[in-house]
Amino acid sequence: MTEHHSDDCLFCKIIAGDIPSIKLYEDDRTYVFMDIMPQTRGHHLIIPKYHAQDFFDLPIDWANACLATAQKMAIAAKAGLESDGVRIMQLNGAAAGQTVFHYHVHVMPVMKGESMALHARDMEKPDVLQPIADKIIAAL
Ligand code: 5GP
Ligand code: ZN
Repeated sequence: MTEHHSDDCLFCKIIAGDIPSIKLYEDDRTYVFMDIMPQTRGHHLIIPKYHAQDFFDLPIDWANACLATAQKMAIAAKAGLESDGVRIMQLNGAAAGQTVFHYHVHVMPVMKGESMALHARDMEKPDVLQPIADKIIAAL
């Protein structure tokens, strides 16, 4: 069970397995899964197993755990997908574009010259996302 669990939080439900996700990695503090509306190929999310709305609410040791996992994932994604770069994004508050109110770090592998899809717009199919996820997992 997520610390500071929230019953009506989408990402708490994903951590609990009540809503399916394509999982890439998990440890005692963090959970990583593919973004269902990817902005780039391999776009995934790191979430703490602690329900906090955003960066302002998240105890710093949990934020540090997320950053450590983000680095591990960025290295694996760059190697596994042979990307040229990796964009890390983290939004706080609706005014900043945040749409899910459980803190998360976006990791987006980027190819040279590739344009990004719009934020949280077009849903991708699991059978398209799974082979991409497998490549990242294999590089972990
Ligand atoms: P935010 O706008 O809060 O920074 O990012 C939320 C992210 O969660 C978006 O990139 C969006 O595509 C993703 N997302 C929203 N609902 C779901 C879902 O049910 N499953 C998965 N895997 N990702 C989701
Ligand atoms: Zn939550």
